[in-house]
Amino acid sequence: MKKILVLIFALVITGLSAVFATSDGLLTTSKELEALQRHVNEIGYNLLNSNGIDKRMVFIFDNSTKTINAGTSNFNRSIVLYRGLYNMLEEDDEIAAVLGHEISHGIDSYDGIFKGAFTGCRYFFTPRKYEYKADKRAVDYMVNAGYNPVAMIVMMNKVLGQNRYDWWFTYPLASRRMMQVYEYIYTKYPEYLANNKYKNNLYYQNFLLTSKENRAKFQEKVKTKSTKKVKYQ
Ligand SMILES: [Zn+2]
Repeated sequence: MKKILVLIFALVITGLSAVFATSDGLLTTSKELEALQRHVNEIGYNLLNSNGIDKRMVFIFDNSTKTINAGTSNFNRSIVLYRGLYNMLEEDDEIAAVLGHEISHGIDSYDGIFKGAFTGCRYFFTPRKYEYKADKRAVDYMVNAGYNPVAMIVMMNKVLGQNRYDWWFTYPLASRRMMQVYEYIYTKYPEYLANNKYKNNLYYQNFLLTSKENRAKFQEKVKTKSTKKVKYQ
C-alpha cells in the first residue's frame, strides 16, 4: 500500500505522465514519447507524400533499445527507427536520410509475385544491390521533400562503422556507400555541393578527410568524362 502511495505521489509530481524505464535504462515520459513518434511520423509521411509514393507504410519509433539501427518489415511494411540511432541524429535532414533509405526497402517489399512475398529472398542473394539503390533513392526522396541530401553523408559518416571487406557483410563498405551517394549528388544535384550547408559540419569534414583517395579517383573520372564505374575503397 505504501509503495502504491509513493507511486501515485511520484506520478502526481511528474505531471501524471507515465514514465517508462527500459532495460537499457532509457527514461522517457509518455509525453516525450508521443512527441518523438510524431516527429518521426511528420518526416516519414512528408517523404511519402512529397514523392507521390502510393504504397502503404507506417513508422514506429522504438524506445525500448539503444540499438543504433533502423529496419523495415517485409511482412507489414512498418519502418522502425530505434532510439539509439535517433539519439545520434541531429537534424530532420539526417532523420529523412534514414527513413528515405528504409522507404526504398518498403517499396521493394511490394514487388514480385505473391504481393512481394519473396522480397526477403531477393534481398538475401543481392543485398548490396538493394542497399545502394536505397541510398540513391533516399537522396531523390530527400530533395523532393525539401531536405538537404548531403545530410545522408553526414549521417553515414557518424553512424556507420568501417568493415574490413565488402564481401564479408550484407552491407557495402561505408566508405563506398558514402562515395556512391557523393557521386550521385554531384551528378544529379550539384547545387547542394556547390552551396554546401554542411561544409563545416564535423562529420562532413571527416568524410572529406577520409575520402581523399576516393574523391581523387572520382575527380579523374569527371575530368576524363569516363563512364566506367569507379572502384572505391
Ligand atoms: Zn538498407
